Amino acid sequence: AKLDGRGTYRFFEPEMDARMQARRKLELDMRQALARREFQLHYQPQLHLESDRITGCEALIRWRHPERGMISPLDFIPLAEEIGLIVPIGEWVIRQACRDAMTWPAHMSVAVNVSPAQFKSDRLVEMIISALATSGLPARRLEVEITEGVLLQQNERTLQTLHRLRELGVRVSMDDFGTGYSSLSYLQSFPFDKIKIDRSFVKDLATKPDGEAIIRAVAGLGKSLGMTTVAEGVETPEQLQRIRLEGCTDVQGYLISKPIAADDLSAFLMTYPLP
Ligand code: C2E
Ligand code: CA
Ligand code: CA
Ligand code: CA
Repeated sequence: AKLDGRGTYRFFEPEMDARMQARRKLELDMRQALARREFQLHYQPQLHLESDRITGCEALIRWRHPERGMISPLDFIPLAEEIGLIVPIGEWVIRQACRDAMTWPAHMSVAVNVSPAQFKSDRLVEMIISALATSGLPARRLEVEITEGVLLQQNERTLQTLHRLRELGVRVSMDDFGTGYSSLSYLQSFPFDKIKIDRSFVKDLATKPDGEAIIRAVAGLGKSLGMTTVAEGVETPEQLQRIRLEGCTDVQGYLISKPIAADDLSAFLMTYPLP
């Protein structure tokens, strides 16, 4: 039993206590990680099928923890989101991604993930304008990926922010399409530039009898709405072939490349033709 702040005893299961402590430690470490430069961006290339060219990369954050080694974003982004640290971390991501993209061939864009808490911060648009100006990256080379979580708490401001980004020339993608409850209605609420089909549907290609039906439908939907459609999590040549047939415009996945450290990207790009 522990005496809590209000002077009453609270009882924890021992393992619960351990979990809370681990969380507190992670939180404290994360608060220092930015200043200690422990975050890194890795970049996963996206392949445009028709031209067989790498048209851009998605920035994916990594945390090189001094004791625990590489920590996956799945293990710290949710906590960062919960305690609001995602705002400064997300700012670092966007500024770094813009700087890195400036070193790439001029036809390539960079996509960043923007979480719901970031979207709610008043400064997002101003910060993006500043990141573009400081780095010199043209707005059309920056892409913002949002999930349904952002639109779930939809209000005037969310849509206004999306429209402001679009007016700047920044592109907006719907991430993890098909995993939530109302993907279709969200497509109607905002003119996305790109739909990213969640990798669970790509997996279904091999495992479910009508696995390709959804991919085909979304590719068709994208086409008629004038949106690019990216299949995520493509791991095998068989999946790639199916996806090509069903009409997706782009693919991303381990088959093309795993996410690559910023410094190693240029070597990878040499293996693809330039425009
Ligand atoms: P996401 O945005 O859906 O990113 C795609 C995830 O799928 C990445 O995991 C990527 O490494 C993984 N992936 C790509 N191709 C394949 C494949 O062929 N097979 C398999 N099995 N996996 C593949 P990662 O890097 O661990 O990121 C996980 C999630 O963390 C991301 O999912 C995104 O939601 C979040 N995240 C990553 N970086 C950031 C960031 O800078 N800001 C925010 N807010 N979230 C981030
Ligand atoms: Ca994403
Ligand atoms: Ca995704
Ligand atoms: Ca995801």
